[in-house]
Amino acid sequence: MELHDQRNLDIPAAAVNRPPRIGLVIPCYNEESVLPETTSRLLVLLDDMRARGVCSDDSAVFYVDDGSRDRTWALIDELSRQHPSICGIKLSRNRGHQNALLCGLMTAPGDALISVDADLQDDLDVIPKMVEAFSRGDDIVLGVRKRRDTDTFFKRFTAEGYYKLMASMKVDIVFNHADYRLMSRRALESLREYREVNLFLRGLVPLLGYRSSIVEYDRAERFAGESKYPLKKMLSFAWQGITSFSTYPLRLITTLGFVVSLASIALAAWALIIRFVPGETVPGWASTVIPTYFLGGVQLLSLGVIGEYVAKIYTETKARPRFHVDVVRGAAFARKRDEHVTGPFA
Ligand code: UDP
Ligand code: MG
Repeated sequence: MELHDQRNLDIPAAAVNRPPRIGLVIPCYNEESVLPETTSRLLVLLDDMRARGVCSDDSAVFYVDDGSRDRTWALIDELSRQHPSICGIKLSRNRGHQNALLCGLMTAPGDALISVDADLQDDLDVIPKMVEAFSRGDDIVLGVRKRRDTDTFFKRFTAEGYYKLMASMKVDIVFNHADYRLMSRRALESLREYREVNLFLRGLVPLLGYRSSIVEYDRAERFAGESKYPLKKMLSFAWQGITSFSTYPLRLITTLGFVVSLASIALAAWALIIRFVPGETVPGWASTVIPTYFLGGVQLLSLGVIGEYVAKIYTETKARPRFHVDVVRGAAFARKRDEHVTGPFA
């Protein structure tokens, strides 16, 4: 049997006593400036792991080109011809980091896949530790940032505040863990069953429930190019995480409605009393106008939040495909290479 057919069977690598086949899945959007350096570092890492028997010879890197507008795909194509350990998956258009990552995870073969960012902000040296934890039987190994010295104060403050906010809403996410993680074939196949369109992978992974562990690392600076997550995208991603995993904002509206109703009963009582107390002046416009504006604001905000959830129902019920694969390259896809690829085929 060919090795790459192994992934369809439920036999863990450890059971057949061979080093596991590992895939490194790397979403790339306009990353031409970092790819050559990233590739050389990853090749060194793979060689080292092979030499120590940590991973199999056919372990590979899977770049997922998320509809880049620069030379990213041309580079990946070239690299895949030069190195047998480099493979490429090209999406038909830009679908965003989470979808690109999901595409890699659903498409690349391997006993376990590790997701890493193209800019190598996540320390590669912990990859062998992740694989060792996997070989000991962990299905999920999460990379957790120990320090964030390299982040700006703003980024650190908002990111850490966000993890705390999520925790206060009882959303099960791991503090300071982003998308640097290893997942076993079993965990990946379970992830495949989650069909949601509004993806927030770091919230989904804890729901799988398999045995998991943590490795800590220090986050480095992006060594070239710019962040592909400007503030606007960041905020929308944060909101996505909240609304995909918590109905807490809706409950907050109910509480708010309750409080405002109580306040208006108190106000009505006050108005009645004042009506019958002789000598008091008739209340002026301020007491009419202020509650009107206030209530108008509260109502609009509440409608907006409810609308966000309705919009989510709208996109989820349409259940459009989350990505389309355009082209694949590399030895792992040898048989698919010249076929017309129409969708996820793992
Ligand atoms: N990325 C992507 N599609 C996008 C935006 C980003 O595939 O639409 C990739 C990007 O190439 C990188 C990873 O997602 O490999 C993380 O992006 P980035 O490093 O810019 O985010 P940051 O580290 O600043 O949060
Ligand atoms: Mg980055």
